[in-house]
This record gives sequence, structure tokens and C-alpha cells, in this order.
Amino acid sequence: MSELAKYTKELSDLFMSSDNILLICHINPDGDAIGSQLALYHYLKSKGRKVTMISPNKLQEFLKWMDGADNIRIFTGERKECIKFIEEASLIVLLDFSQQNRLGEVEQYVVRSASKKVIIDHHLEPQDFADLIISDTSKCSTTELIYEVIKDIEGKPFKNIKFSEAIYVGIVTDTGNFEHGSYTGRTLHIVADLLETGIERERIHNLIYNNYSESRMRLLGLALNKRLTVIPEMNTAYIYLTQQDLNEYNHVMGDTEGFVNMPLSIKGIDFSVLFIEKAGFIKLSFRSKGNFPVNEFASKYFSGGGHLNASGGEYNDTLENTIAYFLKVLKETRVSTY
Ligand code: 5GP
Ligand code: MN
Repeated sequence: MSELAKYTKELSDLFMSSDNILLICHINPDGDAIGSQLALYHYLKSKGRKVTMISPNKLQEFLKWMDGADNIRIFTGERKECIKFIEEASLIVLLDFSQQNRLGEVEQYVVRSASKKVIIDHHLEPQDFADLIISDTSKCSTTELIYEVIKDIEGKPFKNIKFSEAIYVGIVTDTGNFEHGSYTGRTLHIVADLLETGIERERIHNLIYNNYSESRMRLLGLALNKRLTVIPEMNTAYIYLTQQDLNEYNHVMGDTEGFVNMPLSIKGIDFSVLFIEKAGFIKLSFRSKGNFPVNEFASKYFSGGGHLNASGGEYNDTLENTIAYFLKVLKETRVSTY
């Protein structure tokens, strides 16, 4: 029996016995969160199941083209309807996260719901708040895990172009277009299978990466030219963007995607941070090269988490104070562990 089979039988039974399946992704959903949601959606639809999808908040522009994305209900836009969906669901599948607070406002309703809950995720240290947890931290993306789970349920790869496209988007975006070290030979075999279903690799690439506005390009210019600080003695670089910056450059959701990776291309820099000023708090993104664990850094100092080389968190203070606090904890951390 495969390692997965322990879980897939139970999951398959839940899929087939639940007449109202609700798929929920994490707040600020990325390509893997939406890819996971849509892959399962297309799979379950093909099996004749009744499926609904909720995202805690709006989708980023670069994901809106995906097949089925229009059917994702946005909690912040339709609270009443979404609360009803949660109350009426017989099975809730939580995708691409395993810390309850990643549900944002949706958390309280999911916790209260009497439905069965399943988590499918690849993040480290999953919290136990579901009836069934399918967690594999060795997978590069939740969609890679979903591909394997569905293959196990079906007894063979599930060949469906919409499903394949969604799986592919999760793999591409969570590996930074095959740049980060978290994918394996097995991932590439899966990608080969996906391509054989006829998905259009180049079209998908252009829709994800080459679909931004001019103002986003200029915002990136500002970020790199005027908002970047390099601290060579700490092998660290950080970028900040104020609300005013974002407004001036007509920022839309998703525009700052990828900015945090850029300083890692500076020789000697292996830790990069992006501070974004939000209403009343600061959102932080962390990236590293090598073995500096940004997930631990995020959880210890910024109420966050994520992966070894990519994480995020928040801080409830002004931008100035957040950066000052960051510099203080950076010194402590880099001196003690580095
Ligand atoms: P990003 O920097 O792209 O927003 O997030 C990178 C990764 O960090 C995400 O895939 C997610 O795993 C994690 N992450 C981002 N923000 C948070 C947060 O506020 N809390 C936790 N637990 N993880 C986060
Ligand atoms: Mn993911």
C-alpha cells in the first residue's frame, strides 16, 4: 500500500458520500492555492459532485484567467452567501495552508461548522484542526500533492485538461517557474504527464508572468531604485513600499508579486524582505537562498510562517517602527545563527 493510500481511501469515501462539498483556500491566495481549488473543482465536477469554492478575499489579477476562477465566491464581497455555503456544507476541504488563521475572517465560520473537514497541504508543521489531514511537506506545491492523491484514488493519472492546467499553475508558481529547489525529478515526470494532456505551456506562462500593466513595471522600478536597502554585512536586502507609492502607481492586487525575490540576485545576498504598508499594519514577505529558515524567522517575530525559503508575516505598527524592529531582530538572528 502506498504511503498516500492510508488517506486517499478515506478522502475518496468523503468525496463520494458528501452531497455538498466546499473548497476553501487561504487568504491572499497564490497560484498554488487557486490551482489546488480549481484542480479539485474540475475533478469533483467530472465525478458529478456538487462543489462550491470560497476564497477569503479577492484573487490577484494574474490568476483571474484560470478556467473556473469566475465561480470562486469571494468572502469579503458576499459575506452572507458565503456564510450560508459554509453552514450548509457537508464536507469542507481546506487547501494550501494548515494554520487556521490563514482563513482570515472565514476562520470563525469554518471552526463553528459541523461539517467534516479535510486539509490538503504541503506547509511545515500542520496544525491539527481537521478530521483528515493530508500533508506532505516534501511536495513543491499543494497541486503536486493533489495530482498524486487523485492518481491514487483513480488508480491512474487523471487526464483532464482543465485539471492539468490548474495543477501546472500551482507547480509553476510555487517553484518560481522552476527556480526554487523544492521540486524533484518526480515533479518533472508529473509535468510531463500534464503537458501530454495538451495544456499550452507558453500561453500559461504569458498569462502568469507577462500580463502586467505598465504602472506595475514602473512600481518595480521605484522599488529597486529608491526603496531598496542592501546590508552586505548581514547578507540581507530589503524593500519597502508605502501606501502612497502603491496609490501613485495604480497598484492592483498581485502587482508586487515577485518583487521580494529580486534582491536575491545580488551577489552575497541570501535573505530578502519586502515590507508593504497596509491599512493599520505592515505585510511582510521573506525569501532566502540556502538554509536560512525564513519560516522560523516569520513565526518567531512576525506572527507568520511558510516554507524554509519563502514565508510571510505581519506586524501591527507603522512602517518606520516595523523596519526598526526588523533591523533589531535581524542583528540578533544573524549573529546567533549565522
Ligand atoms: P508571499 O510572500 O508570497 O505572500 O508568501 C510566501 C509564503 O509564505 C506563502 O506561500 C505562505 O506559505 C507563507 N505566508 C505568507 N504570509 C503568511 C502569513 O501571514 N502567515 C503564515 N503562516 N504564512 C504566510
Ligand atoms: Mn503552496
